[in-house]
Amino acid sequence: MNSGLYVVATPIGNFGDMSQRAIEVLQNADLIAAEDTRHSQRLLQFFAIDTPTMAYHDHSDDRALQRIIKCLADGGRVALVSDAGTPLISDPGYRLVRQVQDGGFAVYPLPGPCAAIAALSVSGLPTDRFLFEGFLPAREGARNNRLAALATEPMTLIFYEAPHRIKESLQSMLQVFGDREAVLARELTKTFETIRRGPLSELARFVDADSNQQKGEIVLIVSGKPRGEQEIDADVSALLQRLAQELPAKTAAAVVADCTGLRKKQLYEHLLALKQA
Ligand code: SAM
Repeated sequence: MNSGLYVVATPIGNFGDMSQRAIEVLQNADLIAAEDTRHSQRLLQFFAIDTPTMAYHDHSDDRALQRIIKCLADGGRVALVSDAGTPLISDPGYRLVRQVQDGGFAVYPLPGPCAAIAALSVSGLPTDRFLFEGFLPAREGARNNRLAALATEPMTLIFYEAPHRIKESLQSMLQVFGDREAVLARELTKTFETIRRGPLSELARFVDADSNQQKGEIVLIVSGKPRGEQEIDADVSALLQRLAQELPAKTAAAVVADCTGLRKKQLYEHLLALKQA
């Protein structure tokens, strides 16, 4: 094994997904830099790997970085792992990879599990072009702003979501995107794996009705903006909802259609979807 930093993907739930090469690299490395050493112990013990570990995350101090650089400068091999999946994908490591490269040392990828790609591969949504957004902001205002910025994006959108925010996020998406087709991919590769595709309003009802769906690890995938249809943005949606409090839904949709040039049917369906969610 050459000297260098090895960026090693590990399973996202099922240890059977660990690659033979990942086991060998972790066994033969001089040092494993782990996001959380205690968390990684389960995996390392399972594969009988007793390589020394150290904690490394994006807020680690300079001493952690210097220890890794020294090991590489001495001709050593360092493996970087995160708690699960591919390091650097919504996980620590970006700073480290850059600094190691800038120091003139080699960096090797060990590809493997990644929740975003696993979810996309079974989503049934277009995979030719996609946008990985990672985690949305926790606060509603910031979340809606971020979603509004993505509303005109035609690519398939991939989000990571915390279980305690899944209900709110589905509502925000419904409000900002309208009732687009989406996929809930939960607990992938684990016992209670759920993969469900449907309109956002249907997924919102599904999650509301079953508290188990509000647990575990979740990827949400949402269709990109339908071609040929203008998006109902957050301001128009708010205006439509306000008018619908004063007028019958069809009339509210007709008024907003006159003012914005959007289709009346699309606006009416948007209102119905919000009502049903
Ligand atoms: N680096 C990891 C990867 O390659 O997927 C992602 C790390 S990020 C901190 C953790 C998030 O990934 C979870 O909150 C969830 O959104 C998603 N995730 C991880 N494992 C998952 C699984 N088995 N099923 C569904 N989503 C998962």
